[in-house]
Amino acid sequence: MSKARIIPFFNYPALFYQQEEKFISIFKDVCSRGAYILQKDLVEFEENLKKFLDVKYVFGVADGTNAIILGLNAAGIGPGDEVIVPSHTYIASAAAVALVGAKPVLCDIGEDNLIDPASVKEKLTQKTKAIMPVHVNGRTCKMDDLRDIAQQHNLMIVEDAAQALGSKYKGKGAGTFGKFGTYSFYPAKVLGCFGDGGAIVTNDEEIARKVSLLRDHGRDERGRVITWGTNSRLDNLQAAILNFKLQSYNEDIKRRREIAKKYDESLKSIKELTLPPSPNENQAHFDIYQNYELAADRRDDLKAYLQEKGISTIIQWAGVPVHKFIELGFNEILPKTENFFERCLMLPMNVSLSDDDINYICDSIHFFYSHNKIN
Ligand SMILES: *Cc1c(COP(=O)(O)O)cnc(C)c1O
Repeated sequence: MSKARIIPFFNYPALFYQQEEKFISIFKDVCSRGAYILQKDLVEFEENLKKFLDVKYVFGVADGTNAIILGLNAAGIGPGDEVIVPSHTYIASAAAVALVGAKPVLCDIGEDNLIDPASVKEKLTQKTKAIMPVHVNGRTCKMDDLRDIAQQHNLMIVEDAAQALGSKYKGKGAGTFGKFGTYSFYPAKVLGCFGDGGAIVTNDEEIARKVSLLRDHGRDERGRVITWGTNSRLDNLQAAILNFKLQSYNEDIKRRREIAKKYDESLKSIKELTLPPSPNENQAHFDIYQNYELAADRRDDLKAYLQEKGISTIIQWAGVPVHKFIELGFNEILPKTENFFERCLMLPMNVSLSDDDINYICDSIHFFYSHNKIN
C-alpha cells in the first residue's frame, strides 16, 4: 500500500500556481489595455477555437447554459416544440429547452450511459423538433444512429458538448455534427477559465448571424439594434486566459487519457466495478475524460472508505437524474438511468494528479473490495 495522502477531487489553487506568472502577466496585459468586452483577445480565441474544431463560426458567450439557450433560440425552437434530451445530464441541458418555451422530453441511456437511440425513437411525437445528444464525461454519443433518426424524421441535432471539447466521433469533433454545438468553460471543465464562460459553434450562416445578434443586445456590426437580444458575451479577460490554455490543451487531454489508462489497467480486475471504456478500446470514440466515472457495487461504502483515506470522490449531479426532479413535472420511469445513478461514482481526474496519487487511489479501492467481502 502506498503512503497516505490527501487527494482533493479538484485542485483549483494548484492549477493557478502551476502557471501563476503567466496568468498574472495576462491579467496585466488585458487590464493595462482596458480591454474587457468584445476585444481582440476574444476574437483571437474564437479564431483559434475555429481552427481547433474545424468549424466556420464560433462565438464566446457567458456560459455553457446560455450557449444552449442562444442556440435553441437561433434555431427557432420555442413554444409547441419538443426536444429529446437524455435524463443522464446536467439540469442545464433540459433547462435551456424549457427556458426557450419548448418542452424537454427526457429519454433513457444505453449501455454506454449516453443517450440511447432506441429510447429516442420511443419518445418521438409530431411535435419533436430536435434531438440533443449530450457527450457526458467527454465520451461521444452514437452519432451515426442519431443522425439517421434525425434525417428520417426531419429533426435537428443540437449538441450539448459542454463536457467534450476535443472529443471525437469517427474523427469529427463533438459539437460539430448538428445545427449547433455548445461548450462550457466552467473552471472544472477540461478547458476551464477563472469563472463562467462558454461557446457556441455552428457551420450554419443563419444560426451564426442570429447568435451574434442575440449575445449582444440585438446589435449589428454598426451598433444598431435590429432584433431583441440579451447580454451573453464571454469576458475578454477570460478569453485571454482560455486562449493561452488552448495552446497546451492537447497535452492536457493526453495526460487525462494516460490517467484513464492507469485507472483501467489497475481496476479492471475488480469484478464489483464497471469501468468506463479505456482510451483505445474503440477507435470510433476519442474521449477527453472530462470525468472518470465508474459504476460500483456498494458505492456509498466505497465513497466513505475513500474519504477516510483522504481521497475525495463525487457522485455526479448529487445522484439525481433530471427526470427525478419531480417539482419540474416529470413522472417518467427510465430504468437504465435510474440503475446507473445508484452505482455511479467519479474518481479524481485532472492534470494536477501525480502517478503516485493514482496508485494510491487504486490501491485503496483494491483494499476496500478485498477486505470488505460480502459472503
Ligand atoms: C457544465 C455543463 C453545462 C453548463 O455549463 P455552464 O457553463 O456551467 O453553464 C451544460 N451541460 C453539461 C452536460 C455540463 O456538464
